[in-house]
Amino acid sequence: MVVILRNGSGEEEIKKVEVLSSSLGLNCHISKGAEKIVIGIIGDDRYTSVERFEALECVEQVVRVLKPFKLVSREFHGEDLNVEVGDVSIGNGKFVVMAGPCAVEDRSMIEESAAFLSEMGVRIIRGGAFKPRTSPYSFQGLGRKGLELLREAADRYGMKTVTEVIGETTLEAVSSLSDILQIGARNAQNFQLIQRVASCGKPVLLKRGFMNTVEELLLSAEYIAYGGNMSIILCERGIRTFETSTRNTLDISAIPLIKMQSPLPIIADPSHASGRRDLIIPLSRAILAVGADGIEVEVHPRPESALSDSKQSLNFREFEKLMRELKSLVSARELVLT
Ligand code: PEP
Ligand code: MN
Repeated sequence: MVVILRNGSGEEEIKKVEVLSSSLGLNCHISKGAEKIVIGIIGDDRYTSVERFEALECVEQVVRVLKPFKLVSREFHGEDLNVEVGDVSIGNGKFVVMAGPCAVEDRSMIEESAAFLSEMGVRIIRGGAFKPRTSPYSFQGLGRKGLELLREAADRYGMKTVTEVIGETTLEAVSSLSDILQIGARNAQNFQLIQRVASCGKPVLLKRGFMNTVEELLLSAEYIAYGGNMSIILCERGIRTFETSTRNTLDISAIPLIKMQSPLPIIADPSHASGRRDLIIPLSRAILAVGADGIEVEVHPRPESALSDSKQSLNFREFEKLMRELKSLVSARELVLT
Protein backbone atom coordinates (compact mmCIF):
# COMPACT_ATOMS: atom_id res chain seq x y z
CA MET A 1 0.00 0.00 0.00
CA VAL A 2 0.95 3.63 -0.36
CA VAL A 3 0.70 6.10 2.50
CA ILE A 4 0.32 9.80 1.72
CA LEU A 5 1.23 12.16 4.57
CA ARG A 6 -0.58 15.39 5.39
CA ASN A 7 0.94 18.63 4.11
CA GLY A 8 3.59 19.99 6.41
CA SER A 9 4.78 16.53 7.47
CA GLY A 10 8.49 15.92 7.93
CA GLU A 11 11.01 13.51 9.41
CA GLU A 12 9.06 13.01 12.63
CA GLU A 13 5.92 11.88 10.78
CA ILE A 14 7.96 9.65 8.46
CA LYS A 15 9.46 7.99 11.56
CA LYS A 16 5.97 7.20 12.90
CA VAL A 17 5.06 5.38 9.70
CA GLU A 18 8.39 3.56 9.73
CA VAL A 19 7.89 2.38 13.31
CA LEU A 20 4.41 1.07 12.56
CA SER A 21 5.61 -0.61 9.36
CA SER A 22 8.47 -2.40 11.03
CA SER A 23 6.19 -3.60 13.83
CA LEU A 24 4.13 -5.22 11.07
CA GLY A 25 7.20 -6.73 9.41
CA LEU A 26 7.06 -4.27 6.50
CA ASN A 27 9.57 -1.80 5.04
CA CYS A 28 9.17 1.77 3.83
CA HIS A 29 10.21 3.48 0.63
CA ILE A 30 10.10 7.24 1.07
CA SER A 31 9.42 9.59 -1.80
CA LYS A 32 9.53 13.32 -1.09
CA GLY A 33 7.69 15.19 -3.80
CA ALA A 34 7.40 18.95 -4.19
CA GLU A 35 4.10 18.93 -2.33
CA LYS A 36 3.61 15.59 -0.65
CA ILE A 37 5.56 12.91 1.11
CA VAL A 38 4.50 9.53 -0.18
CA ILE A 39 5.60 6.33 1.53
CA GLY A 40 5.47 2.99 -0.23
CA ILE A 41 4.89 0.13 2.19
CA ILE A 42 6.96 -2.75 0.93
CA GLY A 43 6.50 -6.40 1.75
CA ASP A 44 3.53 -8.73 1.93
CA ASP A 45 0.84 -6.33 3.13
CA ARG A 46 -2.13 -8.40 1.98
CA TYR A 47 -3.21 -9.10 5.55
CA THR A 48 -2.54 -5.64 6.93
CA SER A 49 -5.61 -3.46 7.08
CA VAL A 50 -5.46 0.03 5.64
CA GLU A 51 -6.92 1.35 8.93
CA ARG A 52 -3.70 0.59 10.79
CA PHE A 53 -2.03 3.41 8.86
CA GLU A 54 -5.10 5.62 8.56
CA ALA A 55 -5.22 5.72 12.36
CA LEU A 56 -2.01 7.76 12.42
CA GLU A 57 -2.70 11.48 12.81
CA CYS A 58 -0.14 12.44 10.15
CA VAL A 59 -1.65 10.25 7.45
CA GLU A 60 -3.89 11.88 4.88
CA GLN A 61 -4.70 8.87 2.75
CA VAL A 62 -3.79 5.23 2.26
CA VAL A 63 -4.08 3.63 -1.17
CA ARG A 64 -3.89 -0.10 -1.62
CA VAL A 65 -1.83 -0.95 -4.71
CA LEU A 66 -3.37 -4.01 -6.24
CA LYS A 67 -0.72 -4.43 -8.92
CA PRO A 68 2.25 -6.65 -8.12
CA PHE A 69 4.59 -3.75 -8.87
CA LYS A 70 4.36 -0.90 -6.37
CA LEU A 71 7.21 1.60 -6.52
CA VAL A 72 6.91 1.97 -10.29
CA SER A 73 3.12 2.18 -10.25
CA ARG A 74 0.94 5.21 -10.97
CA GLU A 75 -0.69 4.72 -7.59
CA PHE A 76 2.64 5.35 -5.91
CA HIS A 77 3.74 8.28 -8.10
CA GLY A 78 0.80 10.08 -9.64
CA GLU A 79 2.86 12.34 -11.82
CA ASP A 80 5.23 11.43 -14.63
CA LEU A 81 8.83 10.93 -13.56
CA ASN A 82 11.74 12.33 -15.52
CA VAL A 83 15.19 10.82 -15.69
CA GLU A 84 18.04 13.29 -15.56
CA VAL A 85 21.24 12.34 -17.37
CA GLY A 86 23.51 15.26 -16.61
CA ASP A 87 21.96 18.19 -18.44
CA VAL A 88 19.71 15.96 -20.57
CA SER A 89 16.26 15.28 -19.23
CA ILE A 90 14.23 12.28 -20.40
CA GLY A 91 10.48 12.62 -20.01
CA ASN A 92 9.11 16.12 -19.42
CA GLY A 93 6.80 15.80 -22.44
CA LYS A 94 9.84 15.97 -24.73
CA PHE A 95 10.87 13.40 -27.34
CA VAL A 96 14.45 12.18 -26.95
CA VAL A 97 16.42 10.57 -29.78
CA MET A 98 19.17 8.17 -28.70
CA ALA A 99 21.08 7.15 -31.80
CA GLY A 100 24.27 5.50 -32.94
CA PRO A 101 25.66 2.30 -34.35
CA CYS A 102 24.68 -1.14 -33.11
CA ALA A 103 28.32 -1.67 -32.12
CA VAL A 104 31.39 0.51 -31.75
CA GLU A 105 33.66 -0.90 -34.48
CA ASP A 106 36.66 1.40 -34.47
CA ARG A 107 37.66 4.94 -33.52
CA SER A 108 36.97 6.59 -36.86
CA MET A 109 33.42 5.24 -37.32
CA ILE A 110 32.33 6.24 -33.83
CA GLU A 111 33.95 9.68 -34.18
CA GLU A 112 32.26 10.13 -37.54
CA SER A 113 28.93 9.06 -36.03
CA ALA A 114 29.24 11.37 -33.02
CA ALA A 115 30.16 14.35 -35.22
CA PHE A 116 27.17 13.78 -37.48
CA LEU A 117 24.66 12.99 -34.72
CA SER A 118 25.59 15.97 -32.59
CA GLU A 119 25.23 18.15 -35.67
CA MET A 120 21.70 16.74 -35.97
CA GLY A 121 20.93 17.75 -32.37
CA VAL A 122 21.22 14.27 -30.83
CA ARG A 123 22.34 14.44 -27.18
CA ILE A 124 22.62 10.72 -26.38
CA ILE A 125 24.80 8.40 -28.46
CA ARG A 126 24.42 4.63 -28.35
CA GLY A 127 26.96 1.98 -29.29
CA GLY A 128 27.51 -1.56 -28.07
CA ALA A 129 30.92 -2.48 -26.68
CA PHE A 130 29.94 -5.84 -25.19
CA LYS A 131 27.50 -7.34 -27.68
CA PRO A 132 25.06 -10.14 -26.83
CA ARG A 133 25.22 -12.05 -30.13
CA THR A 134 23.09 -15.07 -30.95
CA SER A 135 26.03 -16.79 -32.63
CA PRO A 136 29.43 -17.20 -30.99
CA TYR A 137 30.97 -16.65 -34.45
CA SER A 138 29.53 -13.15 -34.83
CA PHE A 139 31.38 -9.94 -33.90
CA GLN A 140 31.27 -9.73 -30.10
CA GLY A 141 32.18 -6.05 -29.76
CA LEU A 142 35.44 -4.35 -28.79
CA GLY A 143 34.84 -4.73 -25.05
CA ARG A 144 36.50 -2.16 -22.81
CA LYS A 145 38.22 -0.52 -25.79
CA GLY A 146 34.79 0.07 -27.33
CA LEU A 147 33.58 1.75 -24.14
CA GLU A 148 36.59 4.05 -24.15
CA LEU A 149 36.12 5.00 -27.80
CA LEU A 150 32.42 5.71 -27.22
CA ARG A 151 33.26 7.89 -24.19
CA GLU A 152 35.94 9.82 -26.07
CA ALA A 153 33.68 10.50 -29.05
CA ALA A 154 30.76 11.52 -26.83
CA ASP A 155 32.92 13.85 -24.73
CA ARG A 156 34.29 15.56 -27.80
CA TYR A 157 30.75 16.60 -28.78
CA GLY A 158 29.25 17.05 -25.31
CA MET A 159 27.02 14.01 -25.65
CA LYS A 160 25.82 11.41 -23.14
CA THR A 161 26.25 7.69 -23.77
CA VAL A 162 24.14 4.56 -23.48
CA THR A 163 25.61 1.07 -23.79
CA GLU A 164 24.72 -2.41 -22.64
CA VAL A 165 25.82 -4.36 -19.58
CA ILE A 166 25.71 -8.00 -20.67
CA GLY A 167 26.91 -9.53 -17.42
CA GLU A 168 28.28 -8.81 -13.97
CA THR A 169 31.87 -9.04 -15.16
CA THR A 170 31.30 -6.10 -17.50
CA LEU A 171 29.47 -3.94 -14.95
CA GLU A 172 32.45 -2.20 -13.42
CA ALA A 173 33.78 -1.06 -16.79
CA VAL A 174 30.41 -0.02 -18.21
CA SER A 175 29.33 1.87 -15.09
CA SER A 176 32.57 3.79 -14.89
CA LEU A 177 32.54 4.81 -18.56
CA SER A 178 28.88 5.18 -19.59
CA ASP A 179 26.16 7.62 -18.53
CA ILE A 180 23.23 5.24 -19.00
CA LEU A 181 23.44 1.49 -18.39
CA GLN A 182 21.37 -0.59 -20.78
CA ILE A 183 19.84 -3.92 -19.78
CA GLY A 184 19.19 -5.74 -23.04
CA ALA A 185 16.22 -7.86 -24.01
CA ARG A 186 18.15 -11.05 -23.31
CA ASN A 187 18.76 -9.98 -19.72
CA ALA A 188 15.38 -8.42 -19.03
CA GLN A 189 14.69 -11.03 -16.36
CA ASN A 190 18.22 -11.60 -15.13
CA PHE A 191 17.23 -10.34 -11.70
CA GLN A 192 20.64 -10.70 -10.12
CA LEU A 193 22.23 -8.59 -12.85
CA ILE A 194 19.39 -6.07 -12.71
CA GLN A 195 19.88 -5.64 -8.96
CA ARG A 196 23.60 -5.14 -9.36
CA VAL A 197 23.08 -2.59 -12.13
CA ALA A 198 20.47 -0.75 -10.00
CA SER A 199 22.95 -0.37 -7.17
CA CYS A 200 25.40 1.57 -9.39
CA GLY A 201 23.07 4.53 -9.03
CA LYS A 202 23.28 5.46 -12.72
CA PRO A 203 20.23 5.79 -14.97
CA VAL A 204 19.13 2.44 -16.36
CA LEU A 205 17.60 1.83 -19.78
CA LEU A 206 15.58 -1.34 -19.31
CA LYS A 207 14.55 -3.11 -22.50
CA ARG A 208 11.60 -5.44 -22.66
CA GLY A 209 12.44 -9.11 -23.11
CA PHE A 210 11.06 -10.59 -26.32
CA MET A 211 8.91 -13.00 -24.33
CA ASN A 212 7.91 -10.62 -21.55
CA THR A 213 4.47 -9.24 -20.78
CA VAL A 214 4.06 -5.59 -19.84
CA GLU A 215 3.59 -6.67 -16.24
CA GLU A 216 6.84 -8.64 -16.31
CA LEU A 217 8.67 -5.61 -17.70
CA LEU A 218 7.29 -3.46 -14.89
CA LEU A 219 8.30 -6.08 -12.33
CA SER A 220 11.86 -6.00 -13.67
CA ALA A 221 11.72 -2.21 -13.27
CA GLU A 222 10.43 -2.76 -9.74
CA TYR A 223 13.68 -4.59 -8.91
CA ILE A 224 15.60 -1.45 -9.88
CA ALA A 225 13.31 0.84 -7.88
CA TYR A 226 13.42 -1.54 -4.90
CA GLY A 227 17.20 -1.30 -5.09
CA GLY A 228 16.80 2.44 -4.47
CA ASN A 229 17.25 3.64 -8.05
CA MET A 230 14.30 5.45 -9.62
CA SER A 231 16.22 6.61 -12.70
CA ILE A 232 14.63 4.06 -14.99
CA ILE A 233 13.80 4.45 -18.68
CA LEU A 234 11.67 1.64 -20.09
CA CYS A 235 12.08 0.53 -23.69
CA GLU A 236 9.64 -1.35 -25.91
CA ARG A 237 11.82 -3.13 -28.50
CA GLY A 238 9.44 -5.61 -30.05
CA ILE A 239 8.29 -9.00 -28.91
CA ARG A 240 8.45 -12.37 -30.62
CA THR A 241 5.27 -13.37 -32.43
CA PHE A 242 4.37 -15.73 -35.31
CA GLU A 243 5.09 -12.96 -37.83
CA THR A 244 8.27 -13.61 -39.77
CA SER A 245 8.42 -10.58 -42.09
CA THR A 246 9.82 -8.46 -39.28
CA ARG A 247 12.53 -9.42 -36.79
CA ASN A 248 10.10 -8.85 -33.91
CA THR A 249 6.68 -7.23 -33.60
CA LEU A 250 6.63 -3.70 -32.22
CA ASP A 251 3.99 -3.79 -29.49
CA ILE A 252 2.75 -0.24 -29.97
CA SER A 253 -0.09 -0.64 -27.48
CA ALA A 254 2.42 -1.39 -24.73
CA ILE A 255 3.41 2.29 -24.77
CA PRO A 256 0.08 3.87 -23.74
CA LEU A 257 -0.64 0.84 -21.53
CA ILE A 258 2.57 1.44 -19.61
CA LYS A 259 1.89 5.18 -19.44
CA MET A 260 -1.43 4.39 -17.76
CA GLN A 261 0.14 2.08 -15.21
CA SER A 262 3.50 3.66 -14.50
CA PRO A 263 5.00 7.17 -14.27
CA LEU A 264 8.33 6.02 -15.73
CA PRO A 265 9.42 7.40 -19.10
CA ILE A 266 9.12 4.90 -21.93
CA ILE A 267 10.91 4.98 -25.26
CA ALA A 268 10.84 2.47 -28.13
CA ASP A 269 13.46 0.92 -30.38
CA PRO A 270 12.17 0.64 -33.96
CA SER A 271 15.47 -0.89 -35.12
CA HIS A 272 15.41 -4.10 -33.09
CA ALA A 273 11.61 -4.20 -33.22
CA SER A 274 11.52 -4.42 -37.01
CA GLY A 275 14.98 -5.46 -38.19
CA ARG A 276 14.24 -3.44 -41.35
CA ARG A 277 15.63 -0.08 -42.37
CA ASP A 278 12.53 0.73 -44.46
CA LEU A 279 10.27 0.50 -41.41
CA ILE A 280 12.22 2.77 -39.08
CA ILE A 281 10.64 6.07 -40.17
CA PRO A 282 7.00 4.90 -40.22
CA LEU A 283 7.41 3.11 -36.89
CA SER A 284 9.10 6.14 -35.33
CA ARG A 285 6.16 8.29 -36.41
CA ALA A 286 3.80 5.87 -34.69
CA ILE A 287 5.98 5.76 -31.57
CA LEU A 288 5.88 9.55 -31.31
CA ALA A 289 2.16 9.73 -32.04
CA VAL A 290 1.27 7.19 -29.37
CA GLY A 291 2.94 9.28 -26.67
CA ALA A 292 6.35 7.70 -26.11
CA ASP A 293 9.17 9.75 -24.61
CA GLY A 294 11.61 8.95 -27.38
CA ILE A 295 13.36 6.37 -29.52
CA GLU A 296 16.62 4.47 -29.53
CA VAL A 297 17.65 3.97 -33.14
CA GLU A 298 20.60 2.42 -34.98
CA VAL A 299 22.56 4.65 -37.36
CA HIS A 300 25.81 3.74 -39.12
CA PRO A 301 28.03 5.77 -41.47
CA ARG A 302 28.06 2.83 -43.92
CA PRO A 303 25.33 0.35 -42.98
CA GLU A 304 26.21 -2.01 -45.84
CA SER A 305 29.53 -2.79 -44.16
CA ALA A 306 28.33 -2.73 -40.52
CA LEU A 307 29.65 -5.61 -38.41
CA SER A 308 26.24 -6.12 -36.79
CA ASP A 309 22.62 -5.32 -37.58
CA SER A 310 23.43 -3.82 -40.96
CA LYS A 311 19.91 -4.40 -42.37
CA GLN A 312 18.25 -2.30 -39.70
CA SER A 313 20.75 0.56 -39.51
CA LEU A 314 19.95 3.89 -41.10
CA ASN A 315 22.61 5.74 -43.08
CA PHE A 316 23.19 9.43 -42.37
CA ARG A 317 20.92 10.63 -45.15
CA GLU A 318 18.06 8.46 -43.91
CA PHE A 319 18.63 9.60 -40.35
CA GLU A 320 18.38 13.21 -41.47
CA LYS A 321 15.03 12.39 -43.05
CA LEU A 322 13.88 10.71 -39.83
CA MET A 323 14.75 13.83 -37.84
CA ARG A 324 12.93 16.06 -40.33
CA GLU A 325 9.80 13.95 -40.09
CA LEU A 326 9.92 13.80 -36.31
CA LYS A 327 10.34 17.56 -36.09
CA SER A 328 7.31 18.15 -38.29
CA LEU A 329 5.25 15.76 -36.15
CA VAL A 330 6.35 17.35 -32.90
CA SER A 331 5.15 20.70 -34.19
CA ALA A 332 1.96 19.05 -35.47
CA ARG A 333 1.29 17.97 -31.89
CA GLU A 334 1.10 21.64 -31.00
CA LEU A 335 -1.23 22.52 -33.89
CA VAL A 336 -4.57 23.95 -32.90
CA LEU A 337 -7.17 23.10 -35.53
CA THR A 338 -10.00 25.52 -35.90
C1 PEP B 1 20.91 -3.26 -28.52
O1 PEP B 1 20.20 -2.24 -28.33
O2 PEP B 1 22.11 -3.17 -28.80
C2 PEP B 1 20.32 -4.61 -28.40
C3 PEP B 1 21.08 -5.71 -28.45
O3 PEP B 1 18.98 -4.59 -28.27
P1 PEP B 1 18.01 -5.71 -27.64
O4 PEP B 1 18.56 -6.05 -26.29
O5 PEP B 1 16.68 -5.01 -27.59
O6 PEP B 1 18.02 -6.88 -28.60
MN1 MN C 1 21.74 -3.96 -32.73
